[in-house]
Amino acid sequence: MNAYDSDFLAQSLINDGFVPVDTPEQADVILINTCVVRAKPEQKAYSFLGRVSAIKAANPQRFLGIVGCLAQLKGAQLLKRFPQLDLVIGPRELCRFPDILKRIDHPSGKIVATGLNSSPPGHAPCQGYFHEKVSGYISIMEGCNNFCSYCIVPYVRGREMSRSPDEIVAEATNLLSEGVKEITLLGQNVNSYVWQGQGNKRWAFPDLLHDLSRLGGLMRLRFVTSHPKDLSDDLISCFGAIENLCPHIHLPFQAGANRILDLMRRGYTREDYMALIQKLRAVMPGIAITSDVMVGFPGETEEDFDQTLDLIHQVRFDSLFSFNYSDRKGTIADKMGGKIDEMTKASRLNTLQTIQQGITVEKNKELEGKDVEILVEGGSKRKSQLSGRTDTHKIVNFVGNDSMIGNLVKVNIKRSFSNSMWGELI
Ligand code: SAM
Ligand code: SF4
Repeated sequence: MNAYDSDFLAQSLINDGFVPVDTPEQADVILINTCVVRAKPEQKAYSFLGRVSAIKAANPQRFLGIVGCLAQLKGAQLLKRFPQLDLVIGPRELCRFPDILKRIDHPSGKIVATGLNSSPPGHAPCQGYFHEKVSGYISIMEGCNNFCSYCIVPYVRGREMSRSPDEIVAEATNLLSEGVKEITLLGQNVNSYVWQGQGNKRWAFPDLLHDLSRLGGLMRLRFVTSHPKDLSDDLISCFGAIENLCPHIHLPFQAGANRILDLMRRGYTREDYMALIQKLRAVMPGIAITSDVMVGFPGETEEDFDQTLDLIHQVRFDSLFSFNYSDRKGTIADKMGGKIDEMTKASRLNTLQTIQQGITVEKNKELEGKDVEILVEGGSKRKSQLSGRTDTHKIVNFVGNDSMIGNLVKVNIKRSFSNSMWGELI
């Protein structure tokens, strides 16, 4: 989501005549996009802001802005702590950035924009911006209405607001005309996407998927994130029915014990979650399933943690994003008793990650000797190699030539590792 917002800002700047540079020292305008979902990214944002403030001090003509969720959370307080800042703008006010930009040349004081009611930013297409990219993102909705007890997102990104299908299709058409082959639709909970059109026409998320899948040149369509409580049978049946919809779903479960899921206010039980996994695998047997999970939620006992491990063993996720629970001020969980100490959290996270690593390695190994189709994204980290992804989102490196970038090629998997695979072109 932040990468998408940064692209919006970069395109707005380029459209206004700015050119990208490689380092903050060379820049006339510096915008720092921030995340506060856990304490760590928040700390990183502060330290980066400190460094860049020193660069601005060396040349006060520079324009320095902080955008995103830290800007929303702290607002004008940031101007006191970092007097070098000219602009503080929250995620829901980004749509105002092109207007604010006009004032950059004629500074009329500091700007703080942290309203939460504006629409998500419309796209600011900039010819050539995605020219060399194979994959692109489109945000289909902003905000979240769920208020999971640990989560700060609804407070900093506001309530859910969907974008119109016309706007989304126009943005997708533009990406495809630039040469993008794969589009990932973004939202905190894409399953609750809804748009009421003229008359009785209403779009739910599966309708949007069907509309987009028909766009010429779209090789692969993906989406993230789905909330288990809103994963409908209609959406599940899109897998297999929509040819270019990739067989991969990211379905965060967060915890394996019903007691913790209830405290988290997730709105489903582990049994509900397991039933969804069964349905998904019945519709599409080879579907890749990835997820988010947290350890050390307030009150989490060893038995609760064992339930999380048990769910991981049962589902056998392709991969997992796993986090230590982190207190976020203002959330319901922040005020809960039974906080888990950092050592216990670290040890639980380590146990969980070791188990998942083993499962990921085993699942990747199952692909050895098999032929897979990959969308070639570009050069791999090693020179003279190319890198791409399977439709199940696994990275495959192989030797090929640059003309393959942006195309689907068949590769035989020779070796598998924990984060990638090595293949040979067929
Ligand atoms: N909307 C998505 C969902 O409901 O699954 C997730 C969005 S959140 C930005 C990404 C992930 O961060 C969550 O799935 C959760 O695992 C993690 N997360 C959110 N709040 C957290 C917190 N206070 N401490 C640790 N991890 C957290
Ligand atoms: Fe946060 Fe829950 Fe909304 Fe996801 S669904 S963004 S975890 S409140």
